[in-house]
Amino acid sequence: MARDGRPVIETVGLTKVFKDFWHRDKVVAVHNLDLEIRRGEVFGLLGPNGSGKSTTIKIILGLLYPTRGRVSVFSRPPTDVAIKERIGYLPEESYLYPFLNARETLDYYGRLFQQPRHERTRRTEKLLEMAGLVHQARRRVGEYSKGMARRIGLAQALINDPDLLILDEPTTGLDPIGTRQIKDLIRDLARRGKTILLSSHLLADVEDVCDRVAVLYGGERRALGEVKELLGRGELTQIITERISAQTIERIRELIDRLERKAVVGVSTPTEKLEELFLRIVQEAQAAEVQTSGVRAGGALPEFLTERATEGTGVIESLVAAAEEPEPAEPIVSEPASTEAEAAASGVIDELVEAGAAPADEEQSAAAEGTAAEPQRKSGEAARQVKESDVEGRRDVPQADRAVIDSLTNTDTSEESE
Ligand code: ADP
Ligand code: MG
Repeated sequence: MARDGRPVIETVGLTKVFKDFWHRDKVVAVHNLDLEIRRGEVFGLLGPNGSGKSTTIKIILGLLYPTRGRVSVFSRPPTDVAIKERIGYLPEESYLYPFLNARETLDYYGRLFQQPRHERTRRTEKLLEMAGLVHQARRRVGEYSKGMARRIGLAQALINDPDLLILDEPTTGLDPIGTRQIKDLIRDLARRGKTILLSSHLLADVEDVCDRVAVLYGGERRALGEVKELLGRGELTQIITERISAQTIERIRELIDRLERKAVVGVSTPTEKLEELFLRIVQEAQAAEVQTSGVRAGGALPEFLTERATEGTGVIESLVAAAEEPEPAEPIVSEPASTEAEAAASGVIDELVEAGAAPADEEQSAAAEGTAAEPQRKSGEAARQVKESDVEGRRDVPQADRAVIDSLTNTDTSEESE
């Protein structure tokens, strides 16, 4: 595993207090948190609901300001525009445009990163394969099950070939195959030198995939260390053999007693994990080509995901540029048998890219902005929004992420502690 000494993420004494309307302290979401996440490691933030995992992640992404303490990402402040294109983010809640299909969704994000068309198409197809969604790629993501939405969310987070991947509860809502696949993908990404920060309350997932974990409770770090160390039972020894007779077991007992003066604590036949059984049943069904409207087996990581940093401008710059100087309409690439609906959707994507509208659903954006939902903003509107965020000193926060976080927290401006 590629590692060097420089931390990719560092927090020192990080504290976040959410205030109420009268600016009185309300909730200490994160308290005095020190973290150091190194290059190439898979780091897990573990903790029960409400322990401060998502808040920590949002501060690391520059979506929330800390009340106290320091945080750096790639040795820069998290609000630095230059680091945005090196980060992929899967938020806790789905934030996709419900009326785009999977292919259009990935194409849209590729355009936000100003990827040329052929590159977007190539990456989109590879990521659809990886996510096992090729056969469902023409369905609107609004119709997707939660697990399918999670998969397309992960694909979206990888479209810019990020060096740092931040996944908030990546396996929540996934079936065991999806969970296993995401865990395998995370390990593969780490082998390619990516750094991964994930949060979870699902212990088994963290145990399988993370090199190190921090356990949070009440916003404080209660434990930190390598999973192996934290879980290792150094006082026990386990020997696994092919099945042996009761007589042999008795002789081994005697031998251990004689040589070591120790007792045998337990003798058992290991059972297969339910996960293994489940995966085998599904693989058999897939081999027999049983029909399903759900996901198919996903593929391996696309080869475009490299250790190199991506080139090109960041999302926010493209949004600002797009707002000031609308890009000429460019139809999205579709398969040879493209339908009218797809042609119509390409116009929608053009508008989205132009406006830099936030992919929140109607309820979310209404909640975030206190106005009626307006998913397809005109470029003038987007420009105004960017200017407003300048005033707040937040020009570096991508509009999409702003709305994501606003809709998730339903706070930010009114409850921000600054
Ligand atoms: P986790 O992701 O570990 O489940 P969170 O970081 O989302 O936890 O939340 C930590 C605490 O901060 C919770 O008590 C939560 O209610 C509170 N909290 C999170 N966001 C806000 C907010 N925008 N305003 C007020 N309290 C918040
Ligand atoms: Mg959370």
